[in-house]
Amino acid sequence: MRRVSILGATGSIGQNTIDLISRDPGAYDVVALTGASNITRLAKDAIALNAEIAVTAHDHLLDDLRDALRGSNVKAAAGAAAITEAASRPADWIMSAIVGAAGLAPGLAALQQGTNLALANKESLVCAGALVLNTARDHGAHIMPVDSEHSAIFQALIGEDIAAVERIIITASGGAFRDWPIEKLAEATLEQASQHPNWAMGQRITIDSASMFNKAMEVIETHEYFSFPADQIEVLVHPQSMVHALVGFNDGALMAHVGPPDMRHAIGFALHHPQRRKLPVERLDLAAIGTFEFHKPDETRWPALRLARDTMRAGGMMGAVFNAAKEAALDGFIAGQINFVQMAEVVEDTLTAFDASNSHIAATMTLDNVLQIDHLARKAAWDAIHKRAG
Ligand code: NAD
Ligand code: MG
Repeated sequence: MRRVSILGATGSIGQNTIDLISRDPGAYDVVALTGASNITRLAKDAIALNAEIAVTAHDHLLDDLRDALRGSNVKAAAGAAAITEAASRPADWIMSAIVGAAGLAPGLAALQQGTNLALANKESLVCAGALVLNTARDHGAHIMPVDSEHSAIFQALIGEDIAAVERIIITASGGAFRDWPIEKLAEATLEQASQHPNWAMGQRITIDSASMFNKAMEVIETHEYFSFPADQIEVLVHPQSMVHALVGFNDGALMAHVGPPDMRHAIGFALHHPQRRKLPVERLDLAAIGTFEFHKPDETRWPALRLARDTMRAGGMMGAVFNAAKEAALDGFIAGQINFVQMAEVVEDTLTAFDASNSHIAATMTLDNVLQIDHLARKAAWDAIHKRAG
């Protein structure tokens, strides 16, 4: 039996992961499931999967979790340190699907046990790419990308020489406001931004898709994970969300990965690698679909892509600034403090406040230093939010 843990088990990726492992009940021994405020779901899944331990991020919910687990053998724990402890419990495969920089420390703890980490938490690559990859290397751990684009690139590169790659193209649906007039974007409501045309995902990544910050993060993720030059990574808007990424080689060939918009493909690929196993995803009827469209993204509409390039050019720990500013700006938008367009302004102001000569940007990338710069950048971003809020 393979020992597996799921960090962020109650979220969209976590639930899709549970869907896959539940289809094969004899194959997995579940070690830890973690969540945050959805105690009912966390407890229900932990009991159904007979997990060793269930952990909520919130200390004040420990008693609720204990109550919900009563009568079962599942242990309960709470708090950020308990999540990191759960991640360090021996397991053969760990899904990292916490949203945000909160996923970094647990992800590193998982890597330190030299295991297989399925990495959906793209924020940890954006805010601390070198630290994550070096930790994996130093402990003999393997990281499998769980983002549809990065799983697609990974698959297109199997058996290929990365030196023969000329460019990588990742696609973007264009999100909720792809066809909106630019001048209306400032009026976009939280509810409108939380509707994705093609994918069912957590609220934060859905809003990030509408603002293109999700794709901006994914460009950085591509640059970090595949050690690929930033200026050879392109983004194309592809409204159908079926061609997830294309890898262009030095002989002119483009290898495209095509599949339905269902994260169980990327999760299942990471779960079974190096084997390919049958997965419960739709088989595409290309004749019925008929047309795939591709457009160049309009960077006036989506400044996030330009800000990602600035971030990669600055290097050092600017990724941590970018990620923290983006998370704070998103919090500001969700709280109604700034409008949709102002999220990019807040990120740009924050990046400007931390130019590359800033001593924090040039500091060694340790977990403590990343968390410190994350804290400082969130503060700077909130200053920029309050300036706009009034
Ligand atoms: P979600 O909001 O649905 O779930 C987030 C999970 O993280 C939940 O289990 C929640 O309890 C937990 N969590 C939230 N705050 C936490 C905290 N402070 N500490 C510990 N745990 C916390 O999000 P999601 O859509 O499942 O996305 C998860 C990650 O996967 C994100 O990094 C996202 O960018 C990435 N991702 C998601 C998709 C997708 O289709 N949903 C696709 C690609 C990548
Ligand atoms: Mg993606």
